[in-house]
Amino acid sequence: MTTKRDLSSRNSPVIQGRYDSLKLISWWQQKKVANARVMVVGAGALGNEALKNLALVGIGQILIVDFDAVEAANLTRSVLFHADDIGKLKAQVAAERLKELNPDVRVTIICGDITTDVGLGVFRNMDVVLVGVDNFAARIFVNRACYKVGTPWINGGIQEMVGEFHVYIPGEGACYECNLPKEAYKEIKRRLSCLLPIEEVEQGRVPTTPTISSIIGALQVQEALKLIHGMKVTGGSGLIFNGVTNEYLPASFPQNERCLNHNPLKSVITIERGGSDIILGELLTMAEEKLGPGAVIRLDFDLVFGATCTCGYTSQILKRLDKLGSDELRCPSCHKLMQPEMTSTISRAKPWLLDKTLSQAQVPPFHIITASNKTSVVHFELDEDRGKVLNFI
Ligand SMILES: [Zn+2]
Ligand SMILES: [Zn+2]
Repeated sequence: MTTKRDLSSRNSPVIQGRYDSLKLISWWQQKKVANARVMVVGAGALGNEALKNLALVGIGQILIVDFDAVEAANLTRSVLFHADDIGKLKAQVAAERLKELNPDVRVTIICGDITTDVGLGVFRNMDVVLVGVDNFAARIFVNRACYKVGTPWINGGIQEMVGEFHVYIPGEGACYECNLPKEAYKEIKRRLSCLLPIEEVEQGRVPTTPTISSIIGALQVQEALKLIHGMKVTGGSGLIFNGVTNEYLPASFPQNERCLNHNPLKSVITIERGGSDIILGELLTMAEEKLGPGAVIRLDFDLVFGATCTCGYTSQILKRLDKLGSDELRCPSCHKLMQPEMTSTISRAKPWLLDKTLSQAQVPPFHIITASNKTSVVHFELDEDRGKVLNFI
């Protein structure tokens, strides 16, 4: 597996001398490193270590995704955060520190949730994605997104003095879901059904040492560097390290032929439109032009477009179900929970949705929208959002 883009062709400015010792490594190609684009999901203990290493070696473009703020408890295992940063957004602080560590790197951030706020176009335009978020929902989301667009990703997990990483390469070996136990899906179900505000269902606090996060975060970056250099990396392979006994176990997952996730997107059409200007009706017309009059838009989430109460109160809402807080379904008149009306299919049968922009329908920017009829599927990438989201500075 090599990366999708030709990393040796773009030009990035490099400070003379900084990378001289790296260049002594026989296989090292600083130009490929400088031209690489890496997304790091989660700026916690693992994310801090991974980001630090990515910046030190001069990864050219780094995207940090995190919605959390720095807390005092982060300071024992987050090299990028200082006491003065408490209360500031982790992604923002981390981005500033990376620029201080190495002014050559260009960084951008998404202060949001990976499962709702990052468009598929973002995944499609990355060379590698590193994940240091400790919940199944986020990992499963990244796994599916990366598989759809053919981007390799590296999962990291830590607990006390034990840690592991695995590399997943779409189309080559196992994906994250090939061997995932059924229990893991309960977390996603809970997340989607309980209607709690997002911060209440985020991962529990997992006790870890700062040393294990250094080890696993470094291994994730090392695997990323191998991918960036086009070195041999086996999909589904990884390592479990037990720091209590100092034992390590190379762990390769077998591919599950019955895994339902192995569906790369075919025929992505790039359109010069952005999520804040195109309305669902226009997109549906484009889909009909490609697929015929029976075409519908298939959102990859449930869009709530109203709620009704047994007392007769009706509410106008336009929000994705996974972003809806329980208080938003509380009837202001009788305080009972209202029944939401929702859909994931946009068609002419719901004309009241057709004049909404994709942003109003909470489609993340730079997303790839799927439309289909009974026999064919087409995907539209909202390319005008590219510069807004991949705004590396
Ligand atoms: Zn799979
Ligand atoms: Zn009511």
